[in-house]
Amino acid sequence: MGSVVVRNGLVVHPDGTGVADVLVVAGRVAAVGAHVEAPLGCREIDATGCWVGPGFVDLHAHLREPGDEAAETIASGARAAAVGGYTAVVAMPNTEPALDNVALVTYVLDQGVRAVVDVAVAGAITQGRLGERLAPMAELAALGVRLFTDDGTGVQNAAVLRRALSYARPLGVRLAQHCEDAALVADGSMNEGALSSRLGLVGRPSVAEEVMVARDLALVRVTDAPLHFLHLATARSIALVGAARADGLPVTCEVAPHHFTLDETSCGNYEADFKVNPPLRSVDEVTAVRASLRGGEVDAVATDHAPHTPERKDLPFDEAPAGMLGLEHAAALTYEALGAGEADAHRFFAVLSRNPARIAGLRQCDPRPRHGGHGGAIAVGEDANIVVFDPGARWVARRDRLQSLATNSPYHGRDLMGRVRCTVVNGVVVVDDGMLV
Ligand SMILES: [Zn+2]
Repeated sequence: MGSVVVRNGLVVHPDGTGVADVLVVAGRVAAVGAHVEAPLGCREIDATGCWVGPGFVDLHAHLREPGDEAAETIASGARAAAVGGYTAVVAMPNTEPALDNVALVTYVLDQGVRAVVDVAVAGAITQGRLGERLAPMAELAALGVRLFTDDGTGVQNAAVLRRALSYARPLGVRLAQHCEDAALVADGSMNEGALSSRLGLVGRPSVAEEVMVARDLALVRVTDAPLHFLHLATARSIALVGAARADGLPVTCEVAPHHFTLDETSCGNYEADFKVNPPLRSVDEVTAVRASLRGGEVDAVATDHAPHTPERKDLPFDEAPAGMLGLEHAAALTYEALGAGEADAHRFFAVLSRNPARIAGLRQCDPRPRHGGHGGAIAVGEDANIVVFDPGARWVARRDRLQSLATNSPYHGRDLMGRVRCTVVNGVVVVDDGMLV
């Protein structure tokens, strides 16, 4: 493992910023300062005009392996993540079969060790994600699993979720919920409202999300176990979580880039690339979610990266599977939503790296060795998981440039601001000048 020096970037610390060089030797930050002397043969990266901060951590990536390797693999998803500036991703357990046992979780962790970024695993809360009997959470926690979710759906049965929360607390792990009440969403395929009526599509109402958030907060109150709310898409959901947090409950929440950049009118041409659960909401909700992100009411931006093969996605809107790609454009979309000021730079690294790393339990390195520490300070001795982001870059999202095996991106042709220039994973430059090395 060689050395690399990132020169002249604006280093974004948790408590300030400053132009500096960052020297990385043998996987760790070895020096931070002006005119740092680099060892012979050291790779030089010019970061003039760029932000330098901790590599992004995605709490919510569907890597599709095992079961749907035509849509994505752990290796290809990791490459998409690296190009997007991520140094670690949490692989969601709604694979086929679901990641609900030691053998499958071990398989994904082993594949992850060979991937270009660090791969953590979220285990299923219930066996087969059926929402009935609990998965062996203690055994999975012993493998290093820190997050559990039945994502794709939420745990519908309140008694099951209460039991899971009670088990999770002494294990020191966190549950994460996809909040949509199954009875209220039924077989809806877009946001419920005047537009869904006009298009003749069954809707998924905002209240389906909000009743489940409210119910789950009540269960957190009686169990005192940490709960993370996945991809919240309404102002009221975010406000409920905010009020509970202010009340001292151990809750966190994320929003997905599509929920603060795209609204339900995108579904007007019945293009399935815009179908996602929870659905793209009304213009007012999108504006409110964006304001919550800017206002610091959400902890994290998570992609809900959900690859699908063209064969499956090219179906009529109401028959196509839900989900869209997210890893390669999330940073630019988040930058666009936040802005370019110093406070915005702090918020940018808080929601894309520091907070998700804490929520996923990835701040500390896993000595097995599965992953380095993520979301930490750019400081001497820290594991070198670093991203160089150029806020001045302008580019156009293109399907044919994606690293993901799938192409179901809703952003094809969109003008983007800000681009990942360089990604350093555990001291190794894996992306340079926006390209995989
Ligand atoms: Zn979900």
